[in-house]
Amino acid sequence: MFLARIQFPMSNIIGERMKRIIYADNAATTKLDNEAFDVMTPYLLNEYGNASQPYSFSRKPKMTVAEARKIIASAINALPEEIYFTSGGTESDNWAIKGFGTPGEVKTIFTSAIEHHAVLNACNHQKENGGCSVIILPVDGFGILQPSVLKEAMTIESSNRPIASYETKLVSVMFANNEIGSIEPIKELAKIAHENGALFHTDAVQAVGHIPIDVQDLDVDMLSASAHKFNGPKGVGFLYLRKGTKIQSLIDGGSQENGLRAGTENTAGIVGMATALKANCEQMLANKEHIEHLENKLISKISELDYIRNGSKQHIPGNINISIKGENGERILHRMDLKGVCISTGSACDSKNMQLSHVIKAIGVPTEYAEGTIRITLGKYNTEEEVDLIAEALVQVLSK
Ligand code: PLP
Repeated sequence: MFLARIQFPMSNIIGERMKRIIYADNAATTKLDNEAFDVMTPYLLNEYGNASQPYSFSRKPKMTVAEARKIIASAINALPEEIYFTSGGTESDNWAIKGFGTPGEVKTIFTSAIEHHAVLNACNHQKENGGCSVIILPVDGFGILQPSVLKEAMTIESSNRPIASYETKLVSVMFANNEIGSIEPIKELAKIAHENGALFHTDAVQAVGHIPIDVQDLDVDMLSASAHKFNGPKGVGFLYLRKGTKIQSLIDGGSQENGLRAGTENTAGIVGMATALKANCEQMLANKEHIEHLENKLISKISELDYIRNGSKQHIPGNINISIKGENGERILHRMDLKGVCISTGSACDSKNMQLSHVIKAIGVPTEYAEGTIRITLGKYNTEEEVDLIAEALVQVLSK
């Protein structure tokens, strides 16, 4: 008996199929690099051996995973054995936050008010189920956690602790914000964390593959990354874990990833991630110049609109987060969608619950502007022509 072929949903309704799509939501996800796709296919079709098996059929997948680990490590100046493959940014963040230290210890986490929910909700989980204290620190109007704010909070916290009580502390601050793109002063923050006896984790999901990262120079203990944010495949990422850093496993099972992260290696995903990261790192400067040129062009074309630009001058290339007076971000998004332009109101994960983003609240955008917030994130595949069309569409949508 033959089973009927499974019918997956069509990507677009028939009438829309021919419509040109302009993708300007690269902070939500990115298009897979062609070369990454090419290197992945053999591991999905023919070289499907389990990378942990000892027979010769698994030799190639095993060697490929090892090579990918080296490529990824060298992209952030780490050692191969400090790279742990995961299912993506959410898992890496959860692992760092739920796994640091040793079970049973008194734990305190310091984090910022603008973290991704993968960090904030993992912290909440630790507070409610793990008996952890969580201190959420405010950011300034540009979305920056000032080192002095962290320093003061850590000083107050330790002066309030009974003498001779011991705790394990973690500071978790994102490298770059996913909504407004602001790049945090990670090196200074990590220094303060260490001076106060804490470990330092950074959610670098928006930064890896887009701006230079050197874990040695930054002196971070843990760093999360996700392949689909740098033109790699979805469902794969990694956690950098500095040698010697104490962490408990989040996923128990087999002995993969040095016994710390169980589960059969996603060989195709891992090789795709390494290839995409290598390509993005090699072209980083050229990509930055191209994307910044497009960003400046778009900004100059929408100068007549009444908006506030959110975020810091030091931001991820291509991030344009603006709040338009008297508007509604959701409405703008849907009207832009009708014109074939994909933009966002903030983080992709937040857009379902229709609430004002915690990031926009945290940076204090005035209420008459806040609801009209949209995020346009340009990437390496966007073109000048697309930027003209995005600006044209936005001006039209807002003039109605
Ligand atoms: N952290 C940040 C800053 C993100 O932007 C995202 C995704 O939007 C995540 C974590 C989650 O990553 P993933 O989609 O790989 O689970």
